[in-house]
Amino acid sequence: MSDRLVLVAVPVAALGLLTYRVPAALPSPPAGARVVVPLGPRRMTGVVLGEGSALDPAIELRDLIQVLDDEAFVPPDVVQLTAWVADYYLAGPGAALSAALPPHGLSARVDAFKTVRVATVTAQGLDVLDRAMGPRCVGDEDRDMPRLGARQREALQLLAGRPDGIPAPDLSDRGVPSSALLRLRTLGLVTLRTERVDRDPFVDERHASSAASEAQPVRALTGEQEAAFEALAPLADARTFHTALVHGVTGSGKTELYLRLAERVRAQGRGVLVLVPEIALTPQVAALFRARFGSHVAIQHSGLSDGERHDQWHRIRRGEVDVVVGTRSAVFAPLARPGLIVVDEEHDTSYKQEDTPRYNGRDVAVMRGKFAGSLVVLGSATPSMESYANARAGRYTLVTLERRILDRPMASVRVVNMREEMAESTPDVVLSRPLVEALGLRLQAGEQSVILLNRRGFATAMFCRQCGHTLECPNCSVSLTVHTRGRHSHDDRRGWRARCHYCNYLRGVPTACPQCAAPYMEHVGFGTERVEADVRAHFPAARVARVDRDTVRRRGSLVDVLARFARRDLDVLVGTQMIAKGHDFPNVTLVGVISADVGLGLADFRAAERTFQLLTQVAGRAGRGEIAGEALVQTLFPAHYSIRLACTQDYRAFFDKETAFRHAMRYPPHIAMVNIVVRGRSFEQAMDDAGELVERVRAAGTKGFVILGPAPAPLTKLRGEHRAQFFLKGTSRASMRESLRAALAAAPAIARRTAVDIDPVSML
Ligand code: ADP
Ligand code: ZN
Repeated sequence: MSDRLVLVAVPVAALGLLTYRVPAALPSPPAGARVVVPLGPRRMTGVVLGEGSALDPAIELRDLIQVLDDEAFVPPDVVQLTAWVADYYLAGPGAALSAALPPHGLSARVDAFKTVRVATVTAQGLDVLDRAMGPRCVGDEDRDMPRLGARQREALQLLAGRPDGIPAPDLSDRGVPSSALLRLRTLGLVTLRTERVDRDPFVDERHASSAASEAQPVRALTGEQEAAFEALAPLADARTFHTALVHGVTGSGKTELYLRLAERVRAQGRGVLVLVPEIALTPQVAALFRARFGSHVAIQHSGLSDGERHDQWHRIRRGEVDVVVGTRSAVFAPLARPGLIVVDEEHDTSYKQEDTPRYNGRDVAVMRGKFAGSLVVLGSATPSMESYANARAGRYTLVTLERRILDRPMASVRVVNMREEMAESTPDVVLSRPLVEALGLRLQAGEQSVILLNRRGFATAMFCRQCGHTLECPNCSVSLTVHTRGRHSHDDRRGWRARCHYCNYLRGVPTACPQCAAPYMEHVGFGTERVEADVRAHFPAARVARVDRDTVRRRGSLVDVLARFARRDLDVLVGTQMIAKGHDFPNVTLVGVISADVGLGLADFRAAERTFQLLTQVAGRAGRGEIAGEALVQTLFPAHYSIRLACTQDYRAFFDKETAFRHAMRYPPHIAMVNIVVRGRSFEQAMDDAGELVERVRAAGTKGFVILGPAPAPLTKLRGEHRAQFFLKGTSRASMRESLRAALAAAPAIARRTAVDIDPVSML
């Protein structure tokens, strides 16, 4: 009889798939089952990915030690998915598997769960209670009657009414300490059992949205929603893989559409997976699903504690929930039979994981749909170039929602040319006169405003007017950003700090130049802190808050600010792209965009796409209620097509123009791209190593692609390491992967300092 062999992945990033023999004494584990394997001198728990085949008879294979599951622990389509991720992103099975596992990974230990002790009264306990409470005469004490303290008697009384028992913490809340319970147990009057409790992230969740917290009556779909539903429902019913792109303007009611589809799929006994970009920034979608499906929903996102995530993962795996709402890693949720997979705001860059495995949650979602035979719905007001191109090419079904709910008008968008404004006002003007005027009108009317600037801090750099020296990060090749911590006076810089936005290096701001000692340090550029200060200076009575990564470090603070804004305790919200996302604040009638062109200066071929998306999304925050909204866009480049077309909210015109640019420059989605960054102790070493990899890729074959570079990476130094990069560009991803894999395998030392990014979303 030939050996039974299995391929096993262990959650160790650097390891490939391992082959083991199943000894005669053990059953054959199915794909997805956990097994204990020997690994060097250690034992590890891994997951079976499939049957193995003996490659080299000279290699002595080792035996599995134990088979932990007789059925899949990780569902088969997720097993397939991790194998795909490992291969497609050149990530390795160990890293891909880690992404798909809950915290505490494969451990089957119960103590990974939170447990609670539950007390139940015994028959003897009831008897004793009876006698203790009954009429008795002095001196009539029973010999075998245990003496009960007041606490103990009270515990028995409470327990007598609760045959299922009462958790110990609840008893202690009511004045019964655990010592009393233990004594009662010793007397045989109560029993204590250990129960697992699922940590529920909703218990202390306070949502910004008032609309979402209470269950809403089911309302009639609008004509457009109805038509979209009619197009999508048969695709869901078909139980085969299909992808649809829902292009719906902001406020067109996409969420309601997802909810209806989810209801239908659930009613058919299948699961629903909903991916959202960042739950803290877009709490509405998760809350609406929670309101509609109650305890059948599990929520997964990085803001949860390990324990909460662990419990949610196991609830899903046990089949206790059939709707999962989560951020990108939820794409691996162990949901059985997903019939519908929704990717909301599919264009959002937070779907891209920037650590190994560098996967894009949206693309992995489409693959999961393929393996599970489900309908995948991608939704956005500003679809990614990739998805819209797929729809145009007929690979995805395109469903369009052109109008806002109740035919509310889109915000009217006005462009303020800052070149003119600077000429007529002052060169360092931050809030233009039209914007100040518009803000004043909103404040008078008791309406709310949102002001966006996608750059943190007070000033972008500090330099010496005499010698030109700029304060730079010693670890990264960037200038330090100035933070004033609320003290904006130029004469009082004691509170000022200069911070690196990449490595968090922090220093005080010197009054004299560290290089030439001249007392002429000046700051240039501005960020959200400066905008906040200027709004306060113009409108001292206004209630202003700022939302950016500096203000939301503390868990829950973002939710607090958004809740205050929703309650109308705030008049103006200043912030970065964090405030541009899916919030629905009906009283916001003005959106101001400062420096709409911030992103256009970046050396990234997606700069125009990002600018268009951000402007369209933020303009979509205005006028979602009864009152029409207005957006004011300040820019130095009013003629740039990404700004012009965002102002007219013309997605299709933007797509056509951008497609022409990508074709001409040979950029995705027209072709595929891979970015390879090599780190080194010195810049020379990084460049040399990158050069060696390039040669090895070339030697392995460049059929169907070209190599660009090596060259210094845009951030040549980051966190103390020097960086060089090169690109592969072409039509054959498979051929790029194959050559790159060969090159990395031939230079393992360099490979350890190399980051491979397939389909990169950021060029920086
Ligand atoms: P989108 O996600 O497309 O930007 P939303 O799903 O946030 O749009 O919907 C916009 C608003 O319209 C929300 O306040 C939502 O509650 C409301 N809405 C959605 N569908 C309907 C409907 N059929 N009837 C009435 N209001 C609706
Ligand atoms: Zn730094």
